[in-house]
Amino acid sequence: MSVAEFVERNSRRGDHGADLSELPVAPSMRASIVTCMDSRMDMYDLFGLKPGEAHVLRNGGGIVTDDVIRSLSISQFRLGTTEILLAQHTGCGMSTMTDDEYKNDLLGFSGLTPTWSVESFTDVDESVRQGMMRIRRSPFLKHHLVLRGFVVDLANGGLLREVF
Ligand SMILES: [Zn+2]
Repeated sequence: MSVAEFVERNSRRGDHGADLSELPVAPSMRASIVTCMDSRMDMYDLFGLKPGEAHVLRNGGGIVTDDVIRSLSISQFRLGTTEILLAQHTGCGMSTMTDDEYKNDLLGFSGLTPTWSVESFTDVDESVRQGMMRIRRSPFLKHHLVLRGFVVDLANGGLLREVF
């Protein structure tokens, strides 16, 4: 009943929450962070973020999918962001399986295989490089912007290691 617990925790905020509607919609630090959905990583804590400062886009793996490109495009062209930080991490669940294994699991579960790619990986540095290349080559993104890729080291307090 975790969802009910979340709703309950939210209701306890009462009138104490800040008026977030006063903040501009455009991120004040003009940056987007693309990363994994891993529940151990608190992006606001890892990067000292405050509400209103950056877009945070998350999915399984921190993979640069078409939908991430869609959000980055809107972030850049409508909301003025000019920098992208791509961060995958050590010990990612996406490196514990292969695409074929997962698709076979789904086939057994539903009788269907997905049209989307699972995008599992074994080499996290290579996956970050692939993501940066997808961003650089997208016709829907600006290309004079800052783009840096990193691996977050979960075993070392979440410190970043840059991938070149
Ligand atoms: Zn992960």
